[in-house]
Amino acid sequence: MKFFVLFLLFYILSSIGYAQVPEQTHPTVQEIVDEISEDNIRRIVERLVAFHTRHTLSDTTDLEIGIGAARRWIKREFEDYSRDSGGRLKVEYHRFIAEPQPRIPEPTEIVNVVATLPGKLQGDDDRVYVISGHYDSRVSDIMDAESFSPGANDDASGTAVVMELARVMSNYEFDATIVFMAVAGEEQGLVGARQWAADAYRDEMNIEGMITNDIVGNIFGGNDVVDNTRVRVFSEGVNPNATYEELRRIVATGSENDSPSRQLARYVEEVGPLYTTNFDVVMIYRRDRYLRGGDHIPFNELGYPAVRFTEMHENYNWQHQDVRFEEGIQYGDLPEFVDYEYTTNVARVNGAVLASLSLAPPPPTGVGIDISRLEHDTTLLWDHSGLGDLKGFYICIRETTAPQWQRKIFVNVQDVQSEEGYTYIQKGKSKDNYIFGIQAVGKNGLNSVTVFPAPVR
Ligand SMILES: [Zn+2]
Repeated sequence: MKFFVLFLLFYILSSIGYAQVPEQTHPTVQEIVDEISEDNIRRIVERLVAFHTRHTLSDTTDLEIGIGAARRWIKREFEDYSRDSGGRLKVEYHRFIAEPQPRIPEPTEIVNVVATLPGKLQGDDDRVYVISGHYDSRVSDIMDAESFSPGANDDASGTAVVMELARVMSNYEFDATIVFMAVAGEEQGLVGARQWAADAYRDEMNIEGMITNDIVGNIFGGNDVVDNTRVRVFSEGVNPNATYEELRRIVATGSENDSPSRQLARYVEEVGPLYTTNFDVVMIYRRDRYLRGGDHIPFNELGYPAVRFTEMHENYNWQHQDVRFEEGIQYGDLPEFVDYEYTTNVARVNGAVLASLSLAPPPPTGVGIDISRLEHDTTLLWDHSGLGDLKGFYICIRETTAPQWQRKIFVNVQDVQSEEGYTYIQKGKSKDNYIFGIQAVGKNGLNSVTVFPAPVR
């Protein structure tokens, strides 16, 4: 019995000691998160609602009403933030003509408002992180471009998150470039985001992560559930554009749950709550809500890691509805249904993630598992990289059924240095039974997303 207790104690202590790298916040990231203003988020949402409608096909010339007035206001706001930060935000329209399609009857100019905060661009570090919300709105009839269409939650809330982060983050310097986007044409079929993503792809932009915030302001679910403490992050497990060979590889390595988008979602789930109080991120293993879509999808389709934030419980009376009062029920996406404290927490998660990623070194490259021989240990290999102020790496390990990394083992650069690159051998843990990944860790303590290894000989 005594022996058993001792054994148990030893077991508990050793598993604690081994379990997790202590979770630490970074002072600059914390500062950024602390500067995010609920008042400003409220002001932005209310101002966007005041344009009466921001339908993609609505008036573009009126000074007060319609999507044209809305985008001019968003651009001016971004320009104000830029001026306040010494002109470091590059603000521009990304405009193009959308050809006729089911929800766009005739050629229509679509305008995304884009504010870019250039990174320090050290060496070959050309990483870009993108955050978006859509500023267009809709009512019951998707083609109705005239009616009052406040779109407070869908998606002035997401747009406000993006704009507020642009305001705060433009006062800081990051290694990576951050693109803050208010896009149009989402409701008409993800038109604005799709074109921007296609142009970025054509220009070989190195987008390391994309987050869309869409419907991030409501805490009263239509099912009477109230939840102001959680936000969902949606991520695809398998890219539908994967080739047959890629799909075979995914099945053979058991990586259905380890796509780059899923790794980004894990990062969000891990980092976001470090910087918020009583606020959690819930990973949903699905590209979007069931059979639904959002502006991250065009990015996913081009192979970029991209995820979607949406509130925990939606309220369908307040989405895509004509504003009306019927049988005791108020319909419509009105600003009084936005919980600004909640949206501010979502902004804090976004800010923490974007700042951490952009201050961390780039993710390791050439990450592989040695399959040149069968072994009971697991040998990980990856490339030397001169990028960033590298301190070391986390070797991430989890069981095949675990949603999140269960163990992170820190190794110094010197400890894993080998002639051809970096090597780490995990004794006693077979790649058959565990999932491995590697994160780069900077001298500032911040780490990259996890890279899932490919089999190498
Ligand atoms: Zn939306």
